[in-house]
Amino acid sequence: MRTGLMMGAALMALLPLTAQAEAPVVTKQVYQLHQKLLTLDSHLDTPASLDLPGWSIEEGHEVHGDYTQVDLPRMKKGGLDGGFWAIYTGQGPVTVEGFRKARDFAILRGLSIRNMVAADPANFALALEAKDAAPIAAAGKRVVYLSIENAYPLGEDVTLLKTFYDIGVRVSGFAHFAHNQFADSSTDPSGKPRFGGLSPLGKELLKEMNRLGIVPDASHSSDQVLDDLLALSTTPILLTHSGCKAVYGHPRNIDDDHLKALAAKGGVIQMNAYGTYLRASKPNPQRQEALKALFGQLREDAKLSPEKRAELLAKRQEIDRLYPDTDRPTFDDFMAHMLHALKVVGPDHVGVGADWDGGGGVVGMEDVVDLPKITAALLKAGYSEADIQKIWSGNVLRVLAANEAGKGK
Ligand SMILES: [Zn+2]
Repeated sequence: MRTGLMMGAALMALLPLTAQAEAPVVTKQVYQLHQKLLTLDSHLDTPASLDLPGWSIEEGHEVHGDYTQVDLPRMKKGGLDGGFWAIYTGQGPVTVEGFRKARDFAILRGLSIRNMVAADPANFALALEAKDAAPIAAAGKRVVYLSIENAYPLGEDVTLLKTFYDIGVRVSGFAHFAHNQFADSSTDPSGKPRFGGLSPLGKELLKEMNRLGIVPDASHSSDQVLDDLLALSTTPILLTHSGCKAVYGHPRNIDDDHLKALAAKGGVIQMNAYGTYLRASKPNPQRQEALKALFGQLREDAKLSPEKRAELLAKRQEIDRLYPDTDRPTFDDFMAHMLHALKVVGPDHVGVGADWDGGGGVVGMEDVVDLPKITAALLKAGYSEADIQKIWSGNVLRVLAANEAGKGK
């Protein structure tokens, strides 16, 4: 698909700009180093793909075809050993009925992840402790930790977290795009805080995380929630997919003071590749409107038929054709956040959580196949192999181990 000469003008117009340019490839030496490293991404939204009709993690897909970004062949090619596979639940009504629906959805999504592992034990393995990752990767398998994005499905019963722990969850966030029963979101539509941090129930949830050894994740929650977590958690905190306010002043990013406070408590920021949070882009209201309407339709159809999915994909491609995204953030924008965080807190407190299959991806790094570029950019910036190993997994595993060790205290 990268041989421009063979493509007709109509097809060229259908593809995002990046597909038309030759992607710079890393040298053989860098590629070999990257493949040798233990690489984990702390926020994979790929579990949503597992429940798509006719979609298989075992098969290779084309990012500009079905817009997915992670599958087994691409993980191998891009040298991604695994990561934290998220049980993401969209924020719904904070009501008994809303909690029940979300709980059922989240448990089933967790089981989809477990089924992915069970269906192909030659290629996937469940990881429950920090020490599990290296031997799994050394055996040539993909590492599958589980995480929760948005604790909303727990309802008002924090003891339900134990059930998710038993399913395999080892990292959990609090809020998502909007305030919920546990915490304020950094992007609530009201634009103002509700609890001014964690709610009383949110503080109970944090205690339960500390008791079980589940890593608290402050991504998506407000800065005041991060303050509360840093003050109250008995264990280090993770930001599984976030960026730097000093590079771009978006509420989903954190400022240098928070970065330093996070690091001082042994925590780690994992760098997000979600374009909207990386830099300001030229407004494209027609595209935004069209995508919003399409995603609304996707949400309504919990169980898509293959035909319906094909129809929606065609609509998405039509949107790219009619209203092309001409000002997408690039790989350099992503690296600007990462290099800034590295400058402020050093290589012991920075990692990778690019939000694949959840909105992540930039021009020049469209899916996990492009991950060796991060290793190349870090080498170019002067980081050693040992630093890069910490960034790619050592730091997140250290935080996980600290939470295991802090269990019950
Ligand atoms: Zn997210």
